[in-house]
Amino acid sequence: MYIDSHCHINFPDLAGKLPEVFDLMAANQVSHALCISVELEKFPEIRALAEAYPNVYASVGVHPDHEECTEPTVAELVALADHPRVVAIGETGLDYFRLTGDLEWQRERFRTHIRAARACRKPLVIHTRSAADDTLRIMREEQAGEAGGVMHCFTESLAVAEAAIELGFYISFSGIVTFKNASALREVAAAIPLERMLIETDAPYLAPVPHRGQTNQPGYVKHVAEEIARLHGMTAEAVGEATTQNFFRLFVAARP
Ligand SMILES: [Zn+2]
Ligand SMILES: [Zn+2]
Repeated sequence: MYIDSHCHINFPDLAGKLPEVFDLMAANQVSHALCISVELEKFPEIRALAEAYPNVYASVGVHPDHEECTEPTVAELVALADHPRVVAIGETGLDYFRLTGDLEWQRERFRTHIRAARACRKPLVIHTRSAADDTLRIMREEQAGEAGGVMHCFTESLAVAEAAIELGFYISFSGIVTFKNASALREVAAAIPLERMLIETDAPYLAPVPHRGQTNQPGYVKHVAEEIARLHGMTAEAVGEATTQNFFRLFVAARP
């Protein structure tokens, strides 16, 4: 069994063919998918998916790349997260690759999400790109470790991964680990203990080899597990089992 810990099946490319998406999940033993919020405006459709399908969970948050959308408050995020199928706060974080200029609003938005996660005791889904130092600094300043969570679609160095693990976070690898030019990331994935690892697709983006260039979907997370298995010298089933347990421990188990 495998779980896709991060996907966007509410996006148009996938929302229009959900029966096909669920069929491929079943065929590839992908038991669950966590559908990730990127804007409050779109959150109701994600919550509706999680209510309609027992194998879909939801998160609530506003993506750091989305400039023109409603800015969330701590109270709003906490209120929207108060739902049994909403298991995480995010995706949130920092992205200095896509956007440049004065990004103080992005850092403020990130702090808001961390405060909400601590307040409602749900884990964070953190996106970080070309901003690792500030991401870790703000995680420490805001005591993100109290909420815990995952560094999703991880592409940073081993030192950054280890610092996040030190704060109690998991590291999630996407189909990027299967890309031909990603040997540095494969070295990081090989060095991360399975107990701290999750797998994801970030569908509809980043389809893994051998589907690269196609619309990604949760069923393809199996290919991520196969690559991690190859790097760790174990079976894909064992990677699936470990990352599934990690997923439930982080997102679903009763939190103190
Ligand atoms: Zn992301
Ligand atoms: Zn995402």
